[in-house]
Amino acid sequence: MTIFHKIKQRFYDASIFRKQILVFGLVLLVLAANLFFLYSAVSTMSAIRAYVGGEGIWSRYQKDAVYSLRKYAIEKNEGDYNKFIELLRVPLGDKKARLELEKDNTDFQIVYEGFTEGGNHPEDLRDMARLFKTFRNIKYIDRAISAWEEADGLISELIVLGQDIHNDVIGGRMSQDNALIYLAKVDSINHELTILESNFSKSLGEASRFARDFVFISVFTIFIIFGISILILIFKVSRFISHNVIAIKNLAVEIAKGNLEAKLQINSKDEFGELAASLNKMSGKIADTRAELAAKNAELSAQFASAEENNRYLEKIKTATLNLLEDLDSAKSGLEAAKLKDEAILSSIGDGMIVIDENENIILVNQRAEDMLGYNAEEFLGRKWHEALVLKTEAGAPVPLQDRPVKQAFLTQKRASALPLITPSKTYYFTRKDGSRFPVEIIASPIILEGKSLGVVEVFRDITQEKEIERVKTEFVSIASHQLRTPLSTINWYSEILLSGDAGDLTSYQKEYLNEIYKGNKRMIDLVNALLNVSRLEVGAFIVETKEMNLSEVVKEVLNELKPQIQAKNIVVEENYDKAMPPVYADFSLVKVILQNLITNSIKYTPQGGKVQIEIAPKANKTFIITVGDTGIGIPKEQQPKIFTKLFRADNARETDPDGTGLGLYIIKSIIDQTSGKIWFESEEGKGTRFYISAPTEWMRPKAGTRKLI
Ligand code: ADP
Repeated sequence: MTIFHKIKQRFYDASIFRKQILVFGLVLLVLAANLFFLYSAVSTMSAIRAYVGGEGIWSRYQKDAVYSLRKYAIEKNEGDYNKFIELLRVPLGDKKARLELEKDNTDFQIVYEGFTEGGNHPEDLRDMARLFKTFRNIKYIDRAISAWEEADGLISELIVLGQDIHNDVIGGRMSQDNALIYLAKVDSINHELTILESNFSKSLGEASRFARDFVFISVFTIFIIFGISILILIFKVSRFISHNVIAIKNLAVEIAKGNLEAKLQINSKDEFGELAASLNKMSGKIADTRAELAAKNAELSAQFASAEENNRYLEKIKTATLNLLEDLDSAKSGLEAAKLKDEAILSSIGDGMIVIDENENIILVNQRAEDMLGYNAEEFLGRKWHEALVLKTEAGAPVPLQDRPVKQAFLTQKRASALPLITPSKTYYFTRKDGSRFPVEIIASPIILEGKSLGVVEVFRDITQEKEIERVKTEFVSIASHQLRTPLSTINWYSEILLSGDAGDLTSYQKEYLNEIYKGNKRMIDLVNALLNVSRLEVGAFIVETKEMNLSEVVKEVLNELKPQIQAKNIVVEENYDKAMPPVYADFSLVKVILQNLITNSIKYTPQGGKVQIEIAPKANKTFIITVGDTGIGIPKEQQPKIFTKLFRADNARETDPDGTGLGLYIIKSIIDQTSGKIWFESEEGKGTRFYISAPTEWMRPKAGTRKLI
């Protein structure tokens, strides 16, 4: 970038105020320059005028001096000579000034003294000195000064001539002729001086005209050059301003029209540049705002549309709700009727019913439960079921929470029960408000709605009467069995004597019939024994005497007794006793009853050539497991739940062995329930059955009683 371009750019970048200042400054500068120039010109002209005036005085004094000298030469009057000397002081004063001005280091004081002696006006002295110093070398001035110099030389000659005349006059040598010669010389000098004076004036006149022309041309030139420059500058500035103003106006018009893409291209850094940048920024901002507004608008429109949609949807919902409310009203009245009906049904249920919510609080108690327990429903509602309903065992101890059917139903989400008539070990009692108690049969069922547990319903029944009947029945069975035992033993004994031939020989028919009697009697004895065991178990009157025993030995004893049946059916018995099996503490006869029944069943219900497997193995936590499996007829799936019920026999078992009692598993279950341990089985019809018993090695605890099991 050239310097010119740099200056130009700086000018454009300057603020408008600075631009104005610059233009005005330039105008003022030009005016000042012109003024200065004019002043210089005028003072120069004035100085010329002063020199011309000075020359007038100079020549007048010179002429007067010549006149005085001539008169002195003729009249020899000393006064004229003195006058001559006196008059010449004026030209000599000017000479003094001139000589000082010619010096390089002029002493202006001497100059002013000289000019003052030369008769010049005091106010002209400075201009005269300045003109001499400034324009000494200008042709016209130089010429004038040369004439002045020459004239001063002639003045010196004139002085010398005056001295000569004075000397001759004083010496008395001034004759007529002498006087004429002197006069001729004086006139000659005077004549030359006149010519020089005229040349001086002429030169100054020329200088004056030259100065006039010079000043005019200079002023004119300055005006023309600077004036044009300023005009151009003003034109440029105003064009720059108007151009930018128009551009800004156009941009404003474009923005007003909505064309926010329009931009201003002003690169200067002055107000216009800033304004352009601001306007560009502003239009950008407006564009952004407009875009934002458009987006907001679109959003609002969408919201409005969705609001309208929602409105329509709400209208629909409203209509649907009104319909629903109508339906609800009718449903409500229907429900109220249903509720009344339900309440009537609930209160007329013969069993006590207590409904417990998921937080285990009682929320409903039916009339029958109130009657049975002697409490008002209000006394139960909202309370925790296990606090409100106290359940105790036969012995009067509280039933552990986890044994209570309601808790089991909560935990397992399956129906749980305490049915003493089927499982005598679960004989529980509810205590009435008056402190008396009654045995109950409880069924607790979880309330499940859409897979979610809502609580538990406990239904219970006072089984005082049933228990009493049971007791009487058991007592009857017990007495009857007991009474039957003696004649049956007698029959057994006599049959054995007769069969042995000790009472005489029998025919083969007689022997065959007697054998049938003997076997029938034996079955009867078994049945009576079983019934006696059942009654002893149900009454809880059996004795438990524990001792350390090896379970495999009990099994072996049982197998030994069952040898005839095993051999008759050709059954393979597989025994598997874990060597690590520790001794077990239990009642020998009870364990034997259990194993006898299980093994007997497996042989009984396994066809010819089948297999029976017996395993005894220890398990973790000082427990063990006994497994009795067979490849027999199995138990039909649908009858499996009833298998431990008293007197129950599966259909296929009745076909296989019509003589069974249906008491064996019931007895086993009763023994296990009343000691400790668990019994369960796996069975598939036609394939086989596996019974499992698990119990701690300290299986049974000693218990006092009246009878042993048989
Ligand atoms: P019982 O054997 O005298 O019929 P139990 O109480 O011993 O009476 O057995 C009850 C029922 O259980 C049997 O009638 C039979 O249906 C079934 N049962 C027991 N053990 C077996 C077994 N090992 N195989 C098939 N069914 C069995």
